[in-house]
Amino acid sequence: MNKTDKIYQENSYLTTLEAKVINCTKKNNIYELILNKTIFYPHMAGGQPKDIGTINGVEILNVFEKNNKIIHEIKEPLQGNVLLSIDFTVRFDHMQQHTGQHLLSYAFDKLYNGKTVGFHISKEYTTIDIDINITDTMANETENFANDIIYKNKEITFSTLNYNDAIKRNLRKEPPKLNNLRIVNIANIEATACGGTHVNATGEVGIIKIVKLEKYKSGTRVYFLCGKRALNDYNNKTKELLEISTTLTCGTELIKDTINKLKAENKNYTKVITSLSNELNLYKAKELKTKYVKKNNINFIFEYLDNTNIKDLRFICSKIIEDENYVLVIVSETDENCNIVIGQSNNMSYDLRVVFEECKNFINAKGGGNNKLILYMSLCLWYLDIANDLFVKLPRFFDYVSYMKYIFYFNFSINFSS
Ligand SMILES: [Zn+2]
Repeated sequence: MNKTDKIYQENSYLTTLEAKVINCTKKNNIYELILNKTIFYPHMAGGQPKDIGTINGVEILNVFEKNNKIIHEIKEPLQGNVLLSIDFTVRFDHMQQHTGQHLLSYAFDKLYNGKTVGFHISKEYTTIDIDINITDTMANETENFANDIIYKNKEITFSTLNYNDAIKRNLRKEPPKLNNLRIVNIANIEATACGGTHVNATGEVGIIKIVKLEKYKSGTRVYFLCGKRALNDYNNKTKELLEISTTLTCGTELIKDTINKLKAENKNYTKVITSLSNELNLYKAKELKTKYVKKNNINFIFEYLDNTNIKDLRFICSKIIEDENYVLVIVSETDENCNIVIGQSNNMSYDLRVVFEECKNFINAKGGGNNKLILYMSLCLWYLDIANDLFVKLPRFFDYVSYMKYIFYFNFSINFSS
């Protein structure tokens, strides 16, 4: 069977074409169509995504290349002469990105001897992988260099060469050892073997904008946008900038200063809040200290505190255990979490890790500490799997504090109910 003629390589601007069905095979619920010629670009051939469109008005589901034939996946069987039609908005976008890639790869090579080792057009970005480390300054220089070639509107042509003639042309990249190599020439500036779709002159790329650099293997992945994509990105960024300036009630030129001012203010507020909450926590510690139950000459505290975070619990606990003879459990519940601190004075020697391990396994808590102070956090008890219907109906029927008292009783034989 003859190979499919790739008309998209002869004329990337052709949007409709009449072709003949050579073969139509049913595979599962899909038909695989092979034509004598096509304008549909196969998916991810050389990093470029497929075209979208219709054949006789029926939407193409996928296009891919297999053994020199282009397979068109379609929902209906088709025979005889058919009319192919591609979505040119998508095609032209791919042409802009792909040609832009040639220019950028050439520019990195020319300016820094950075070789392109990977290329991919995705829905949002186009990326090239360059085998050297690229700094912001280098990216800037390269972007300017490539855009200058766009302004000069250089003609882009194609030629077919065999491998031996091709290597004499000093191509940017070593070509594959094939007889019919398709060479893409950007005027007399650069040439490379490529099977993708490109624009006729560099001016049609519009603009190349590098948007991100990322370390990739031992080199750099360069994210960029060409043509309409770059314009859309510029529009989105301008819109966002205006929204930010409205939120901050300042002009766009003052956004940076305003944010720095807010950051400084925020830092100050945090300092004030920390100092105030420490002061408040000192009072809370003082008050809790009086709520002990005396057993065997030891002051046991088992208490709830409203909405207190782990940091504050640690502070309160450490203040109480500064004095001798204290053992404490403080529980604080928020809407979803339960924070617990257990601690004891320096002269006490209960093995608090036993308590912690037991709680951890039972209520699925996370946390840690030393034998003097352990902090942990879990979901509220009534959210847990272990909570049966009764707990759900009466959430506080079995609460943390009672549970902790039970654990102390169980492990250390201290009975708080007597
Ligand atoms: Zn190309």
